[in-house]
Amino acid sequence: MTRATPLPTKSVPSIEDRWDPARVTGVDELDALVYRSNLLASDRSVVNFGGGNTSVKALQADHTGRATNVLWVKGSGSDLATIGRGGFTGLRLEEIMPLLERDAMSDEEMVAYLARCQLDPSMPRPSIETLLHAFTPHPHVDHTHPDAIGAIVGATDGERLAADCFGGDALWIPYIRPGFALSKLVADAIASKPEAKLVLLAKHGLVTWGASAAESYTATLEAINRAASFVAARAEGGPAFGGARRPGIDAEARMGLLAEVLPALRGALGVDGPRVLQLDTSPAVLEFVGGDESPELSQVGAACPDHLVHTKRRPAWVAYDPERDDAAALRERLVEAVREFQAREHAYFEQYRAEDDKLLDPSPRVVLIEGVGMVSAGRTLKAAKLSRDLYHRAIAVMRGASALGGFVSLDDAESFAIEFWPLELYKLSLAPPPRELQGVVALVTGGAGGIGSAAAHAFVDSGAVVVVADIDSKSAAEVVTEFGDAAVPVDVDVTDEASIVAAYRAATLAFGGVDVVVSNAGIASSAPITETSSELWDRNHDILARGYFLVAREAARTLIDQGTGGAIIFVGSKNSLAPSKGAAAYSAAKAAELHLARCLAEELGAHGIRVNTVNPDAVLAGSRIWDSSWREERARAYGIEPDQLEAFYRERTTLKVNVLPADIAAAILFFASPVRSGKSTGNFLNVDGGVALAYPR
Ligand code: ZN
Repeated sequence: MTRATPLPTKSVPSIEDRWDPARVTGVDELDALVYRSNLLASDRSVVNFGGGNTSVKALQADHTGRATNVLWVKGSGSDLATIGRGGFTGLRLEEIMPLLERDAMSDEEMVAYLARCQLDPSMPRPSIETLLHAFTPHPHVDHTHPDAIGAIVGATDGERLAADCFGGDALWIPYIRPGFALSKLVADAIASKPEAKLVLLAKHGLVTWGASAAESYTATLEAINRAASFVAARAEGGPAFGGARRPGIDAEARMGLLAEVLPALRGALGVDGPRVLQLDTSPAVLEFVGGDESPELSQVGAACPDHLVHTKRRPAWVAYDPERDDAAALRERLVEAVREFQAREHAYFEQYRAEDDKLLDPSPRVVLIEGVGMVSAGRTLKAAKLSRDLYHRAIAVMRGASALGGFVSLDDAESFAIEFWPLELYKLSLAPPPRELQGVVALVTGGAGGIGSAAAHAFVDSGAVVVVADIDSKSAAEVVTEFGDAAVPVDVDVTDEASIVAAYRAATLAFGGVDVVVSNAGIASSAPITETSSELWDRNHDILARGYFLVAREAARTLIDQGTGGAIIFVGSKNSLAPSKGAAAYSAAKAAELHLARCLAEELGAHGIRVNTVNPDAVLAGSRIWDSSWREERARAYGIEPDQLEAFYRERTTLKVNVLPADIAAAILFFASPVRSGKSTGNFLNVDGGVALAYPR
């Protein structure tokens, strides 16, 4: 091992004091607590996503007007970065303190007892670590899991290092799961040494306090910064993670490789429902996945109990040697690694489970590919991002701990006791119920147009993430702004094979693969047959019939590779079925699409891929086709003025209605959803207000 490059001190950064006294002047204790909490968590190296908790003890009037000692503590399931007053729960402290006299208390008993101490029953359930706050004999208490502290409490020789770093200022508590017993241990330790400034919880985190909100904030920052400079000083002289294992591959090759292997990985992860994947090739991740010690280090265990339900005990580590392995070899190894992980997860669950426990997710949440990057997986985009972000914290903790001589974590029994702890699972139960297309990735061509953007809306509303593919990249970029991070814009020209391949590649790199492809990009033209040029004929067939073929061919390749079925939906036309005067080129191409869909349904059924068609008619609203010369041409063909077309089309339908983009989107959603149409393929659904010529027969 070379010992040349010093570990950059930014690996365990010192935290800047950003306390603004003006923000707490004239506000009540709860507002000051909100400010302190938000400020602490604005730096994720201080407070994990959803982790940590803060409190204040304050005298205030209860609902009867009586002066009451109230403990305000974070409610379970909220995030300190965004928490407001309503995220905290007020508890009557004089009802809690007698618990200090008890020797033991079960979790169920503790939860039920604390529920009765709430000032208001409608407040959220108080944090798992409420008693820790109540029993710490100071008005303001912070409990956090900062990276720099994690490096010490997660180091093999943590207790001795803690003494070296903090001297007599710190109290050391060996690991036990949060709850009544841990809270008592902390209370006893502080009582035995009242001059101590902080408590270090082995393999877990930090407890600090103060007489005021500002003092508590400062105490937390001071503890972190002492730990940060201690780690930095000890780490001098050695490269992180033992230095790079082998030369890395360049960024372009890396992305090409990932685009080839991710659908198969996503398929293996999605044995019990689709996952959204998030790719991370940031410098911190690349340094870790390239590290010589990382294959072993990554398998030690979680860096903080709080991470467990989001990252599991350990990630799947997949070896990759660019000299030896091609994409196919890596693909195979990824699938194998996921299967092995799932088998181990079932065995772990069976070994430790209680009767009522349920294995909610057997798949890895984090997959590390040696020298290439990190892939996180979740049933929702939010979950995938949370796993990714928490694993960044884990990398920082391991970086520090290994620089201090070695990293330790919870053993399997301890991990299980957290991962399947009802109080930890309760937090997950606060998430909104799963939506119909949760975890599904949908790609829509012509996604910026009227029907395409309505379909994208319907997908996002149903919980899917969407790739809005369009030749008009500016409009596609505008459409996705409505969807936050649930959609990405992608350039595509459906007449260009390379462009289509690139669009699927972009979709794969954005979310890991695709499940639903809506072929919708199109044009329309109108001309009597005697005036239909061969160019016009070719153009219609190029964009429609051939474009649908190319988009579907690439969809089939990706879906088959992924191996979890899927849905291809063609947006056809009434003209796919009904003959129409003066639009032969368009109508013939639309008819070709419909038959192509039926051929593909027959061919792809064995892979669980369903292919269906939605036939709209005269969807004028929001349509770019109808903004073109098509409107004038159709009006001329019917002998009416262009602005009379809406009424004209309405009157000629059986139901006397105009068809809107949202109507087509509803039909697309029907064919996308396995719940609604999982046993339907080779079908079509007319959404045309009723046109007898197009009735199926
Ligand atoms: Zn904690």
